[in-house]
Amino acid sequence: MHNHEPPIFELSGRGKIGVNLPQIDVPQSQLPVDLLRADDLAGLPELTEPEVIRHYTRISQRNFAIDTTMVSLGSCTMKYNSKLHEEAARLPGFAAAHPLQGEELSQGALQLMYELQTYLGEISGFDAVSLQPAAGAQGELTGILVFRAYHLDRGDHERMEVLVPDSAHGTNPATAAMAGYKVIEVKSDARGNVDLEDLKRKLSPRTAALMLTNPNTLGLFEEHVVEVARLVHEAGGLVYGDGANFNALLGIAKPGKLGFDFMHYNLHKTFTTPHGGGGPGSGAVGCTAMLAPFLPAPRVRRIPQAGQELPPTERGASMRGAHATPAPEGAYEFFAPEKSIGRMKTFHGNFGMLVRAWTYIRSIGAAGLRKVSETAVLNANYVQARLKHVYPAAVDRTCMHETVLQGKLAAAPEVRTFDIAKRLIDYGFHPPTVYFPLIVPEALMIEPTETESKRTLDAFCDALLAIAGEAARDPEILKRAPTTTPVRRLDEVRAARQPILRYDPAVFARLREEGLQF
Ligand SMILES: *Cc1c(COP(=O)(O)O)cnc(C)c1O
Repeated sequence: MHNHEPPIFELSGRGKIGVNLPQIDVPQSQLPVDLLRADDLAGLPELTEPEVIRHYTRISQRNFAIDTTMVSLGSCTMKYNSKLHEEAARLPGFAAAHPLQGEELSQGALQLMYELQTYLGEISGFDAVSLQPAAGAQGELTGILVFRAYHLDRGDHERMEVLVPDSAHGTNPATAAMAGYKVIEVKSDARGNVDLEDLKRKLSPRTAALMLTNPNTLGLFEEHVVEVARLVHEAGGLVYGDGANFNALLGIAKPGKLGFDFMHYNLHKTFTTPHGGGGPGSGAVGCTAMLAPFLPAPRVRRIPQAGQELPPTERGASMRGAHATPAPEGAYEFFAPEKSIGRMKTFHGNFGMLVRAWTYIRSIGAAGLRKVSETAVLNANYVQARLKHVYPAAVDRTCMHETVLQGKLAAAPEVRTFDIAKRLIDYGFHPPTVYFPLIVPEALMIEPTETESKRTLDAFCDALLAIAGEAARDPEILKRAPTTTPVRRLDEVRAARQPILRYDPAVFARLREEGLQF
């Protein structure tokens, strides 16, 4: 059937035009002959406006997006991103600001950065914030490099190990290894917490840091977080907080007061700047006053009134150089903290993301932030309660903002999480995160987020329960899924190794022969 549909790419027809030029109302003049084209423009598509619109709209709908459906990817916090943030980020004063524009011409942008630093510090209980890192993983690298600079600054050269719980996101051990450390894994106990006995065994004078996610990747609050931090500090190590799951704690708990020395925020998760598809994110970082001198440059500060001093966390040289005129009182300026590890990124981080996060925080306010976390936790527990009698919970505890279930159906042992995830696509839902965390066999990690309505949560749970019913009746239905998509089960290795990123008629013709419909 699909062979009779018009192909979606080859729509061009000679002479078709998508613009309507007005009548010429100035005297016509002749271009010099040597500037005229000798041949026709060849190979450019010629289309009408509706054809172009339909082409792009159709392609955009061949994918899942948060604007069309719930995306329950655990750990990713795929909440709805308000269009208000887009409006703010597109204000010409922000969108058209040049990164080399002088500070005196960028006061609004600097003020926004300064305020965002302050808000993030307040929300998380940290004394100093840098907005530089481009994503969570880069925030992690920043933190571990800051830790290293701190230890070396004290003449402590023997700390070559970073401890990472076995439930951690892959970026944690990767970060530690990239920064040159030996990674030591710490086990989780039966309740999903860090195993304190195992932690004690692995702490030593070689410990530089422990990287801890709280709530952890099982969606559980680390019940012994204060004790864990105390043990690490007693051994002379520092505690890194992976703040990717901060969405569960806003207005409720401050990691800076729980014993963490440093944490990254994923502005693109918790603070609802858009993400997915490898687009820009922001992995701003916060830390205690002790580590503030090592933060990457530049940070933003405000010049105090005459006679007043800069707070200790804001000491360091202005970025305008020794000979520049000093900025006036009350102005905002970039500075390099005294012992800064240097830059982590060109210019000032992903600035558009900072505008969106600022807008989010200001538009919902302190009470709104707390409500976000309360609702996110409630929604996750609702989903867990509706599903866990069919899909067993990895650890049967009240969860935080996400729940880790297992695709192990008593009535259909041959069915795997992979099959369930693929079948969910046929029901119109993006699958949850699967096979992560690694310590949970057949993991289905569901993070509904606070922006989904009860009606949507129910539809999602109904779909998963219906799939369990299908699995018991006829597992083949799941094994064949998805059936409603332009492409079916992909060869994931080939898709990653040989991605087709450009339209090529010959390649598409071959794929069509192989049975792909698009
Ligand atoms: C998303 C995530 C990260 C990495 O953040 P990126 O912004 O994707 O680099 C790290 N840890 C956890 C637990 C995460 O969910």
